[in-house]
Amino acid sequence: MRILITNDDGLHAEGVVRLSEALRELGELLVVLPDRQRSGASHSVTEVEPLRLKATSILDGLPAYITNGTPADCVALAACELEGGRIDLVVSGTNHGWNLGTDALHSGTVMAAGEASLFGLPAVAISVDGREPTRFKTAAWFARRLAKKVLQRGLPRGTFLNVNLPDLPRDQIKGVAITSLSLSTFCEPFEKRSDPHGGTYYWRGGPVPIRFKSDGTATHNGQPGTDSYAVFQGFISVTPLRLDPTDTDSLGTLRSQEWGWDKPNDDDIKNA
Ligand code: MN
Repeated sequence: MRILITNDDGLHAEGVVRLSEALRELGELLVVLPDRQRSGASHSVTEVEPLRLKATSILDGLPAYITNGTPADCVALAACELEGGRIDLVVSGTNHGWNLGTDALHSGTVMAAGEASLFGLPAVAISVDGREPTRFKTAAWFARRLAKKVLQRGLPRGTFLNVNLPDLPRDQIKGVAITSLSLSTFCEPFEKRSDPHGGTYYWRGGPVPIRFKSDGTATHNGQPGTDSYAVFQGFISVTPLRLDPTDTDSLGTLRSQEWGWDKPNDDDIKNA
């Protein structure tokens, strides 16, 4: 088995070190990581700069590559240039911090798995809840169990898994919940600060994330059945995601409507 590991926190993040340690028992690892912190990179790719791959190592000499590209670039480079389709599974993480609800859409960790799904590869993104989580060994232990199951059973083509663990010891985790994204508006507050010259600047990611329900009231744990709720209750959340955002419910209605194009008459052609 050949497993690609990537992340958005870079080579020195404990999450990816523990993950690599746990997954190397399952097969041959290919580790391709961004050369800097890329949290929040979502699904962006590099088009106007050259991409470089530099050989390095992780753990006790396990070969790895770093690139100046994004997490999605890491996956594409691995799939197209390094392994040419000989990848059985992509695991992205373990991210330092939750990727719940709308965070999942902003996350480089999650969208690296999304990029893999576009190549038809089974993929899993793993994150641990909290601002400064510590339970990366627990996350890696679960990642290995989940990876084994995905390698055995596969995933529907185009589906990838977004996994979030509570930052708890293994014996305090209540189980695994299959969830939906808590897509109620997530206000990730900015910190507003002043620079030494009296200018104002903003830093995304204040100390306490506040999630809002659709009626505008704040909630810290989302609705039952969602990823936020499950993690808040002490469960590991597993959310199946797909990247085709086509609004299939609206296709019929929109196709029945007129969209500004009529067959031109002679005058229209003359005046065009
Ligand atoms: Mn990150």
